[in-house]
Amino acid sequence: MQLIKSINSVKKQIRKAKKTGKSIGLVPTMGYFHEGHLSLIRKAVKECDVVVISIFVNPAQFGPGEDYLRYPRELSRDLHLAEEESVNIVFAPSAKSMYPNGYQAYVNVEKMSKVLCGISRPSHFRGVVSVVAKLFNIIEPDIAYFGGKDAQQAIIVDRMVKDLNMNVKLKVLPIIREKDGLAMSSRNTYLNKMDRKNAANLYKSLKGAKRLINSGTRDTNRIIHTMRKMIKSVPHAQIDYISVVDAKGLKPVKRLKGKILIALAVYFGKTRLIDNIIVRL
Ligand code: AMP
Repeated sequence: MQLIKSINSVKKQIRKAKKTGKSIGLVPTMGYFHEGHLSLIRKAVKECDVVVISIFVNPAQFGPGEDYLRYPRELSRDLHLAEEESVNIVFAPSAKSMYPNGYQAYVNVEKMSKVLCGISRPSHFRGVVSVVAKLFNIIEPDIAYFGGKDAQQAIIVDRMVKDLNMNVKLKVLPIIREKDGLAMSSRNTYLNKMDRKNAANLYKSLKGAKRLINSGTRDTNRIIHTMRKMIKSVPHAQIDYISVVDAKGLKPVKRLKGKILIALAVYFGKTRLIDNIIVRL
């Protein structure tokens, strides 16, 4: 496995591989690997000849006062895990090389970036899609792998790929959860013991929504009301949003029909957790 920090060097390596007809898989990450990341990596290794994992805590997707500086980083552990999974290249560029002095080009997927997480994180998706566009240009992957945990991100990246005619196939894989149902996240390490225990309630509320739907409920307000009650039943849980939207355009729906995304963001203290389920009706 190679650790490459320079953009030019990784481009050279990729070109060499492409010349010999090898397929390239990319898993974009911010590092601090858990089983969620590893599930994407394993799938990429299974499906592609050359697998590149990018590790880059992208300053452009963090707003003022967010956790860019304290976001957990542990490159040596990540490298070890990537090596064990037979990854070919870990691409870990510096912020300076990705955003040199004078940098000004950003990609914006307009409407879909302004809903759900985009309300409390107004510049977040502009930062995400810009860095993903850069990674696609640098690595030129045949397939890029994303997690369903960041459902809005995957939907917005898909929109960008379609709108900008990019030559990459996207695969979105299921959410990997802890035993108690909490979606795995690098940010879970911020939680104290009590909040960590109570955070399992987020997935319970999503399962509660699923139960209501299975028993015939189609009214969005009723679902959101029930979820809200469940989440608020534990201390410290501050709801950012609970939304029921169509899973393609992220538009709110009043009554459930088709492919629906039920998504939430909840703060425990300063830690903001997200989770979601997709239901098909
Ligand atoms: P991150 O390092 O948090 O930016 O995540 C990198 C990729 O891993 C993104 O596509 C995430 O959606 C995905 N991911 C993060 N957590 C999980 C999880 N619990 N299950 C599946 N995929 C995940």
